[in-house]
Amino acid sequence: MTRAIRVAIVGGGIGGLAAAVALKRRGIDATVFEQARALTEIGAGVQLQPNGTRLLHSFGLGEALSAVGAPLGDGSAYFRQDGAPIAPIRTTDSQDRPGMMGVHRADLVGILADALPDDTIRTGHKSIGFDQTATEAVLTFENGDELSFDAVIAADGIHSALQQYVVEPSEPVYSGSVAFRGYVPRELVPEWPERVSLLWMGADRHMLVYPLRGGKLINYVGFVPRAQAAIESWSAPGDPDQLRAEFAGWDPLIQHLLEQVDETFWWGLRDRAPLPRWTEGRLTLLGDAAHPMLPHLGQGANQSIEDAATLGVLLDGATPEDLPDRLQTYEKIRLPRAARVQQGARANGLRYDSAYVDLEQRDREIQDSVQFRLSIFDYDALAVAEEAVGIHSLR
Ligand code: FAD
Repeated sequence: MTRAIRVAIVGGGIGGLAAAVALKRRGIDATVFEQARALTEIGAGVQLQPNGTRLLHSFGLGEALSAVGAPLGDGSAYFRQDGAPIAPIRTTDSQDRPGMMGVHRADLVGILADALPDDTIRTGHKSIGFDQTATEAVLTFENGDELSFDAVIAADGIHSALQQYVVEPSEPVYSGSVAFRGYVPRELVPEWPERVSLLWMGADRHMLVYPLRGGKLINYVGFVPRAQAAIESWSAPGDPDQLRAEFAGWDPLIQHLLEQVDETFWWGLRDRAPLPRWTEGRLTLLGDAAHPMLPHLGQGANQSIEDAATLGVLLDGATPEDLPDRLQTYEKIRLPRAARVQQGARANGLRYDSAYVDLEQRDREIQDSVQFRLSIFDYDALAVAEEAVGIHSLR
């Protein structure tokens, strides 16, 4: 009889933890190795969208998500910088199922981690090396551990240490912009409209605002140009006065919100062109390690959840011998989809930063982008993966 597979997931961010949940739900032996001593509590908002939210519900996390998220719906809209409306923001899929919500990154990490058995996550494990044979994949860690598995999922983020074992090493591409991020307690801006995602666009910059934690926090992200490459981190402190100056003269609603900011963090925006491959033998890439993207479609986390759900289906019932083929199927399904979203996020950034001679043309493209949004929101990662292996899933 063939033995059950053992899978290592390197990285305990949203992507790695979602993969662990997807695998564990199907009874697959999965362990997460995270370099940090504890899972990070830091961060600001992440937008979940219908394609990602539906999958989190399929993982049994709907109730937990509702307790910490803030649903986004009608009234969500795009504006020019002075507040002139451009178009509504689509928040449902084409069957009008909701699923757009603001969630604090730490809350989402917490929900995923809480869904895992106690011994699943091993913190203080920084992966520093990888090797494989026809029958096993071996990880080495900075603490001296050397552990062998049937497959390794590299979910170690945009600066992935494991990516080099799949493709030629390359640096991520700096976008020329940084994002100032943070939140304001709702009681300081009682006039702020409820349950909406609002996005204002001006020359070289844009501002996105949506609620978190049942609407108790109003999360803002101000995207502004910076010539020099900047670090990306949830915890690099920024200057609130500088942030206010960047958006001086914009819609009074934004200016009033920014007047309440007493702490802000900034994040250098980087992505990559789509990689040619994600899989080498028993090693595959997931999330930002595979497809780091600019945040201008709000899909980074959602795509990593799609990766996770896909792997859950594809590894279900696999034997150690099957794994290289199953991981190739994962790449075949996921790489073109994620590449399309990566490229779409770059294109949307040009619209949001008004990099158009003719702004009427930009506005028309924003209005027409609903079909592209729906093609993202309607995607059913479970169904696509099930079709690929011809099995029924645990929903
Ligand atoms: P990450 O979240 O980067 O997690 C990678 C994990 O791997 C980290 O915990 C890291 O400590 C660990 N790690 C790294 N190297 C090693 C190693 N050698 N050994 C062991 N562990 C290692 N997406 C959105 O949709 N909206 C947003 O607003 C948004 N904001 C973001 C802000 C920041 C600062 C970051 C980093 C990402 C943001 N994203 C956002 C992207 C989104 O969070 C990611 O696309 C999504 O979380 C998937 O990320 P990931 O799990 O692949 O990688």
